[in-house]
Amino acid sequence: MNSVLLVGSDRFCTSVIAQVRSLDVLKVMSTSAVSTAVEMMEVSLPDVVIVEVCCLEDGSVDKTFGTAYNSPYYVLIEEPGQLVSKQDNGNDRRLKPLTMKRVVYSVDQLSELYVEEKAIALESGADAYLWRLSDRGSALPSACLESESLVAMPEAGQLVSNAVSNGASLVPQLSFRKSQQRLIQAHIHIGLNRAQRYRDLSRINDWLSAVALADALTQLSNRRAFDMELPRQVRVALAKSMPLSLMVIDIDYFKRVNDRHGHLVGDDVLKQLAQRFLSNMRFYDTSFRYGGEEFVVTLGNTELEEGWTIAERLRHSIERTPFKLHALANGLEALNVTVSIGLTQLRSSDDESGASFLHRADQNLLRAKAMGRNRVVSDE
Ligand code: GH3
Ligand code: MG
Ligand code: MG
Repeated sequence: MNSVLLVGSDRFCTSVIAQVRSLDVLKVMSTSAVSTAVEMMEVSLPDVVIVEVCCLEDGSVDKTFGTAYNSPYYVLIEEPGQLVSKQDNGNDRRLKPLTMKRVVYSVDQLSELYVEEKAIALESGADAYLWRLSDRGSALPSACLESESLVAMPEAGQLVSNAVSNGASLVPQLSFRKSQQRLIQAHIHIGLNRAQRYRDLSRINDWLSAVALADALTQLSNRRAFDMELPRQVRVALAKSMPLSLMVIDIDYFKRVNDRHGHLVGDDVLKQLAQRFLSNMRFYDTSFRYGGEEFVVTLGNTELEEGWTIAERLRHSIERTPFKLHALANGLEALNVTVSIGLTQLRSSDDESGASFLHRADQNLLRAKAMGRNRVVSDE
């Protein structure tokens, strides 16, 4: 959803809300307190944050709004001079207004001030920095009126000419205010577009991750997913002292299935076997195709004894129920398949990567094969 968060005085928020109306923004939130803004962002991240500098803590221009990689488009806005004085925290400065009464700068001072303040703003994580014209009459138009030259603000693309003679002083003020409104709207546009691009990329990224971690034939999680998931589960189980068991499952004499009935039949068996895993598993169990005709299943929060019951139930159901073949195998309608299973439970002495844990389950599988197949072997 397109959303904008305004952090500033009521007057400031009201004026920006008026400009946002013509844009494609579905939700506008506002507050005058940075702490409230942070809480609001924790609930729902806006696409654009526009912050009035006077709301920031004195003496610091913090990075509250612009640090995360998916952070909103962050616009800092102020009347000239505030950012510099906040950062200086009252120290003596070279850049002093010509007169404090109306805060009037020379054009040279103004350019220097703009560059310095913009640097501070960008260093603090802002994506854009804008000067704003106060309704009371600000430093900028005053300076423009008193100078003989041109004030250029390259980023904003504004050129405010001072070729205004006496008595025409309101003309640049009005046109400047209009340009400022356009500028704020343009920045909101940029922010909304950036957020939309980010959402599109996230969707593609999620899809690619799902593709990268799924086995194309069986739709189970693949070896890559297992290599990432096993250490995570091991770490959690060790940290919480919770039991974790692991089954390594291998189809018996699967090469014969391929040799006798062809690879399409073999593929069909692999697909159906994966479905049987899924229908036999509980909420905390996760099945992976480890490779070829080998599968691994992590049994969360499960002691060896319970793991044994689960493994036996699975092995038995595979042995008992022949696999239906979908007219692939020259009239053959069903095929008997058995599996061997190596089972083990995580020990406190196991390493956090899960290598020793997996190795033990694998050794138990080899023993199951050596003992004649179609059986479960667990730790002694
Ligand atoms: P064992 O009981 O000792 O495990 O014997 P096996 O024949 O199952 O083991 P072996 O390692 O000799 O053969 C595994 C076979 O699995 C060989 C290979 O063609 C087959 N296979 C591996 N991946 C696939 C696949 O994706 N599709 C098909 N159809 N066959 C596969
Ligand atoms: Mg095999
Ligand atoms: Mg094998």
